Amino acid sequence: LNEIKNKHITVLGLGVTGLGIVRFLMSHAFTPYIVDSRSCPPGADWLKQHAPNLETHFGDLATANLNSTDIIIISPGLSLTTPAVVAAMAAGVEVIGDVELFARLNTKPVVAVTGSNGKSTVVTLAYEVLKAAGYKVGLGGNIGTAVLDLLSADFDVYVLELSSFQLDTTHSLKSTSATVLNISEDHLDRYADYHAYIDSKLTIYRHTELAVVNAADSATHTTQQPQLSFGISDADYSITYKDGCAQFSAMQQALLPVDSLKVVGRHNHLNALSVMALLSPFSISKTAYHEAFSQFNGLAHRCQFVAELAGVKYFNDSKATNVGATIAAIDSLSDQAKQLIVIAGGDAKGADLNSLKPYLQAQVKALICFGKDANALAALTNKSHLTQNMEQAVELAKQLAVAQDIVLLAPACASIDMYNNYMQRGDHFSECVKRVSL
Ligand code: ADP
Repeated sequence: LNEIKNKHITVLGLGVTGLGIVRFLMSHAFTPYIVDSRSCPPGADWLKQHAPNLETHFGDLATANLNSTDIIIISPGLSLTTPAVVAAMAAGVEVIGDVELFARLNTKPVVAVTGSNGKSTVVTLAYEVLKAAGYKVGLGGNIGTAVLDLLSADFDVYVLELSSFQLDTTHSLKSTSATVLNISEDHLDRYADYHAYIDSKLTIYRHTELAVVNAADSATHTTQQPQLSFGISDADYSITYKDGCAQFSAMQQALLPVDSLKVVGRHNHLNALSVMALLSPFSISKTAYHEAFSQFNGLAHRCQFVAELAGVKYFNDSKATNVGATIAAIDSLSDQAKQLIVIAGGDAKGADLNSLKPYLQAQVKALICFGKDANALAALTNKSHLTQNMEQAVELAKQLAVAQDIVLLAPACASIDMYNNYMQRGDHFSECVKRVSL
């Protein structure tokens, strides 16, 4: 912190991350200047109560005088291409994220995870495994606790979920192991193109001692050594068969049965394999793996079972905010159902939706769409229906479904056109399902 002791620091963007930064800086006797483009950002009340003396600017960034600060610690919610930020960088202001500040101060091992899908699942499972093995683990980043809030506790190891936005403002994060789990189109509204998004993800490998790559997804590959791969087959961590029983294996050596993992679906097998590869530098017994794998129920809003009505099961995968996640959900549920009815829609964030087509053809009986990009989704198949909202979508799904079918909310889009976030959308789906059952 000596490096930045006499610098003028601006925290740009409040919310969970911004407040984490403010709290951290205040506890180290800094008096940051707080800026947010919103006139009443989340966290403003907290500031008023706990730090009334800090200078703030809420509203138009152009008049925030960002050029005259030394360092901007920017929230991942704000793009580096925001004009006021671009101008500040051109004027020589250093722009970093909270993860970069964490990286400069941290001395403990870090397991770092990024990717288009599965990050939260993988970091949570890794956290559970390490905990079962007796480690004191700090879990944070893009999930739960802001990274700087983790630094005050005495952890043996940190497991960090990192979004591409966080990686864009992180330059010196050292890690024991790091992975890009997979890449599919997402956030094209914030990157110049798909390659820029991929390049952002790949920076996670820059200072790692072990790169973990997805064997089947070349966009995750790196020349960095040493490295390990994971995949259903043809990978360092893969699934092999012993006496007809599928086993999670390392270098073809069986470690534990696949059915010890409670969460189902091919994508979760990949998630488990990535966890095993990432944690290979740590000392973890088979018993610890077994305990964590068999108890992990999965996270809410990720292929979460909601209810069974008249033999039809309803699943909430509201976190499927991009095409890759929707494909994974269709893939993992289709062998459990006679046929699938998928509810999708929202803001596609500029993504090309065409890769959904073959999955809709083969495995989906009806696609029910609503929201901003409903028409673009509906155009992918002749089995589509347009509705105005979730209530109508669930009602129609109920009418179309017969016993043994699955109704799956897997929107392939962000929720911001109609909801505050994916959680609210998922909760609304569950409420609608409960209502149609009355
Ligand atoms: P993230 O934190 O990257 O958004 P989550 O674990 O929250 O990832 O899962 C997001 C969505 O992606 C969910 O819809 C989930 O079902 C799906 N998903 C989880 N793991 C994978 C995977 N390995 N590949 C593709 N989709 C996945």
